[in-house]
Amino acid sequence: MVTAMKRRTFLIGSVSGLSVLALTACVPPSPTPSSTLTPKPSPTASLVPKPAMMRRTSWSADPFARGSFSFPAVGATPEQRDALSKPVQDRLFFAGEATSPDFPGTVQGARESGLRAAREVGAAATAGERIAVIGAGIAGLSAARALQDAGFDVVVVEARDRIGGRINTVSDKKWPFPIELGPSFVRHSGQTSLDEELIRLGVATAPFGRTVETRTPAGLVVPVPDIGPQAVAAALAWAVDQPADVSIARALADSGASKLSTTDADTGISDTDWLDHEIAAVLDLNAGASVDLQSAWYTSTVLGADDDRIVLGGFSTLVTDAAAGIDLLDSSVVTRLAYSDEGVSLRLGNGESLGADRVVVTIPLGVLKTKVMEFAPPLPFAHRGAIAALGVGTLDKIWLQFDQPFWDTEAPLWTTVGGDGDFKVWINMVPLTGEPVLMGLVAAESALRLAEVDDDEFLAAALASLEPFLAPAPTPK
Ligand SMILES: Cc1cc2nc3c(=O)[nH]c(=O)nc-3n(C[C@H](O)[C@H](O)[C@H](O)COP(=O)(O)OP(=O)(O)OC[C@H]3O[C@@H](n4cnc5c(N)ncnc54)[C@H](O)[C@@H]3O)c2cc1C
Repeated sequence: MVTAMKRRTFLIGSVSGLSVLALTACVPPSPTPSSTLTPKPSPTASLVPKPAMMRRTSWSADPFARGSFSFPAVGATPEQRDALSKPVQDRLFFAGEATSPDFPGTVQGARESGLRAAREVGAAATAGERIAVIGAGIAGLSAARALQDAGFDVVVVEARDRIGGRINTVSDKKWPFPIELGPSFVRHSGQTSLDEELIRLGVATAPFGRTVETRTPAGLVVPVPDIGPQAVAAALAWAVDQPADVSIARALADSGASKLSTTDADTGISDTDWLDHEIAAVLDLNAGASVDLQSAWYTSTVLGADDDRIVLGGFSTLVTDAAAGIDLLDSSVVTRLAYSDEGVSLRLGNGESLGADRVVVTIPLGVLKTKVMEFAPPLPFAHRGAIAALGVGTLDKIWLQFDQPFWDTEAPLWTTVGGDGDFKVWINMVPLTGEPVLMGLVAAESALRLAEVDDDEFLAAALASLEPFLAPAPTPK
């Protein structure tokens, strides 16, 4: 049985040992990043009907991701992303979402970082050189495409047996439309060329505003007041005047902003519950990490925006298009990268070696933290400092397909307040696709805890979180 702690306990807690462990643990014997199944009976009796299909993720347990995306950890600075992106001896070039100054943690940030790294290689290399790219995610494939188009001899070395990395679209006959196990949204739509690229590739997207329906554990629909955002804004404003960065949790506590009434209103929801809602549904989800770990100076307090779009036609088209005609060495884990003025040498997990003139490294920050890949000589202090300081958060998903909707709301975005459910945010695909499919999101400590449980328990936690959305029982005549 999944036990859930009232969120407010986290506010006064210290850094969770679980999250520290998850960031530093060694690679276990290859757990699968996601699993699919036809669900067995759940261990807990939920009133929510059993889905016909489910699919879940465990990004923190994935040895080639070790988390979902980078976030501003307390004490880290945006300059460290810049430091991480700097070439070393004009032999090593770095890309990946964590190196993006403007859009970290996103597809477009990763894509732009790959294009930036390709330009840097182009400026340092001579025509026809052999360039190795480590990682076939969107950063690596964008770099590889640009370099090959510029006339370089490119090889992409990828640990998995598939391309895309954290972009992982399942186009399966069992599902009525492609489901995304990684990113689903074009964040900051219109601000980069990603939108045009998706249009060029014919990938369907739809506007996704922030119209949200929020329910109490009793199923009451309640308007979201400003209490939570205001408390967080007050805490962050307080933090600005402090001599050093502190966590958002510390800022909330020490500024007094978290001292809110615990008395339930008629709805059964207190002001403290609304602060917890802001933390769970916005801050935790945005960073994939608890407010104990997030920087009060550099955090982003906006989850999604009116200019977000949801991808319905398969994000993976982006990577299959970029990979066309590129030499790919898949199922090849790079374990050692030696570099000198002469060139680079990659050692693979199977003992083979690969030489190149230069290399673009797009290994995720979470993997760099585990030190499973050795750099020889070690990276400069600025790179190592950035790898240690920047945070990696966890956001996991569950996709549920039902025979028919058990809910009676047309709202595409759902949140819950005042309860202990692990999945605080749901996307209702009915208004977007006409199909009775839900996508649930779980983040931070809840995600790390649930990454350890089996599929039945994971499903049980998801169904329990959905109880507020059960349609009211028909009134007997
Ligand atoms: C659940 C989830 C939801 C998300 N939601 C959104 C969203 O809605 N919108 C958005 O814009 N972004 C979202 N993101 C973030 C987005 O997916 C990433 O920022 C982006 O895909 C990262 O691309 P990348 O190329 O930097 O890294 P990756 O895609 O991780 O690519 C790195 C590659 O390196 C490979 N690799 C790792 N180690 C080795 C090794 N030793 N040797 C060889 N290869 C190796 C990996 O297998 C991987 O293929 C989400 C991510 C997750 C997990």
